[in-house]
Amino acid sequence: MSHDPNCLFCKIVDGKIPSKKVHEDDELLVFHDIHPAAPVHLLIIPKEHVPTLFEATEAHEGLLGRMLLLAPKLAREHGAANGFKALINAGADGGQEVYHLHVHVIGGPRPWGKLPL
Ligand code: AMP
Ligand code: ZN
Repeated sequence: MSHDPNCLFCKIVDGKIPSKKVHEDDELLVFHDIHPAAPVHLLIIPKEHVPTLFEATEAHEGLLGRMLLLAPKLAREHGAANGFKALINAGADGGQEVYHLHVHVIGGPRPWGKLPL
């Protein structure tokens, strides 16, 4: 499994940097975003280091499906049963800051803060 010792989210997977985990299984980890943009703001990441959605291949098809299917389940469990956004930023112009694939789950009662677009 691909791993980058300099990657922030790989360090979170390794437990070298603390996070507020809400879900963990063989291939996925979910934790609270450190700067929440709404009452609920979770990050779903693969344990494997995939830098961006550009590097995802057919081999990641199942993984991507499981990441997306986890989003509504966790949204419901964390107080965003009335709605949420599932967002993937990819690359510099996509506004990606951490180069380890992640799905933002952003939701909960409005009003929210301003989301960077
Ligand atoms: P993106 O711009 O899509 O790459 O999003 C990266 C997200 O990671 C941002 O929403 C940050 O607030 C969040 N983030 C950065 N460092 C941490 C950290 N140590 N723990 C949790 N979330 C983080
Ligand atoms: Zn990584």
